[in-house]
Amino acid sequence: GALKLGDPKLFRQQCFIDGAWVDADDGSTIEVNNPATGKTLGTVPKMGEAETRRAVEAANAALPAWRSKTAKERAQILRKWFDLMMQHQDDLAQILTLEQGKPFAEAKGEIAYGASFIEWFAEEAKRLYGDVVPGHQADKRIVVIKQPIGVVAAITPWNFPNAMITRKAGPALAAGCTIVIKPASQTPYSALAMAELAERAGIPKGVISVVTGSARAIGGELTANPIVRKLTFTGSTEIGKLLMKQCADTVKKVGMELGGNAPFIVFDDADIDAAVEGAIASKYRNAGQTCVCANRIYVQAGVYDVFAEKLAAAAAKIKVGNGMEAGVAQGPLIDEPAVQKVEEHIADAVSKGAKVVFGGKRHALGLSFFEPTILTGVTQDMAVAREETFGPVAPLFKFETEADVIAMANDTEFGLAAYFYSRDIGRVWRVAEAVEYGIVGINTGIISTEVAPFGGVKESGVGREGSKYGIDDFVEIKYLCMGGV
Ligand code: ADP
Repeated sequence: GALKLGDPKLFRQQCFIDGAWVDADDGSTIEVNNPATGKTLGTVPKMGEAETRRAVEAANAALPAWRSKTAKERAQILRKWFDLMMQHQDDLAQILTLEQGKPFAEAKGEIAYGASFIEWFAEEAKRLYGDVVPGHQADKRIVVIKQPIGVVAAITPWNFPNAMITRKAGPALAAGCTIVIKPASQTPYSALAMAELAERAGIPKGVISVVTGSARAIGGELTANPIVRKLTFTGSTEIGKLLMKQCADTVKKVGMELGGNAPFIVFDDADIDAAVEGAIASKYRNAGQTCVCANRIYVQAGVYDVFAEKLAAAAAKIKVGNGMEAGVAQGPLIDEPAVQKVEEHIADAVSKGAKVVFGGKRHALGLSFFEPTILTGVTQDMAVAREETFGPVAPLFKFETEADVIAMANDTEFGLAAYFYSRDIGRVWRVAEAVEYGIVGINTGIISTEVAPFGGVKESGVGREGSKYGIDDFVEIKYLCMGGV
């Protein structure tokens, strides 16, 4: 096939449940395609409730031994998993590019980013400190301990097939939880390759399982099964709400990384070249398919024209193509519906008075390739102002005052990432405090790192991933009240 792996065993077409590689009970499968060629890469099992229940039961059986290990023992195993991911970075990146489409260099970056969560949480495992609280009565002492929450279920999307898994599995395993992972059906091979490496790293059977197949059947079982104590999800706000409802019956803890509608604000006093560079990175990375991609670019009137011109010049340098080819900076979109949404957003904007100043249509390469696109004259009544485009479209809105742009930036139910460019220190503080977002990029378009807390407010989510805060989502706090002292 298209894969040329140094270690062919990393390409797994079966699921990993309770330490064994298995097919669906009824033998059914789903096909996985390469979006850059339209060709089939292979199949994965189409599993449902029964197989998922077995994975959950295996996670439950593996829990006592895993949580009883010392933090150092767990850290050493996780460290090994991290090392193996970095040793196989090229193979993992190739699998990622072939199933997802992002350029190979970007895929390698994702593997390093993804692995960094395993490294970070291996280190953090040893620092899950509790507290000793001064007692409220003379004969009492109060101690607070942190314990793993239990069996965790993770449901992950296709836009970061590696990192959205490690960001959840890293803290879960470090804390002493066990985990059942359901990757997106478009990108299961990255998840299965990581399971293969987890096995080689010595992660005991049942501690990690990967189940592919029907999202509704697997998601239904993961949310209904009382053994699962926490659901961690990255994906759309629509599915996130549905999963929260399903989790209500058994009162599971939930971690939700949902949609965004990121404003990217360029003030008159900004370094315009830096703002253009940041906008290109934030907008066109992963072909615009990240939940922190700039979705609405607000440019102050005094610099609007020069910014638009420079952005178009920079966008013209983006080479579109198969991510395995050298020099390609933008791959295909994930599938045909993704292209249709981009087309709808452009058509809606144009019908209401926006102008296409760059790109604007499907790429000559066909399939789901799309031209990097820039729209000017964009206004708040257009669909691009309200919905996440999830594609390579940069809509430029013009604004006059700081107060106006803060109001427009906050006029959305989402609150994940926001960006702004200004060199005025007073404005930097004012705007940073006024925007209702969980993450704010100031004079930068790139904000993701394992050392900082990633997460949203409003309908963008619940909880934080990465950083010293990220492990809190996988522990319960227990308070010991000691009397009779
Ligand atoms: P995206 O638009 O990024 O594909 P989705 O929210 O549709 O986001 O999908 C994210 C993940 O949620 C994927 O793994 C998908 O299979 C899963 N998913 C989709 N629908 C459901 C559902 N009804 N129940 C459980 N999981 C689901």
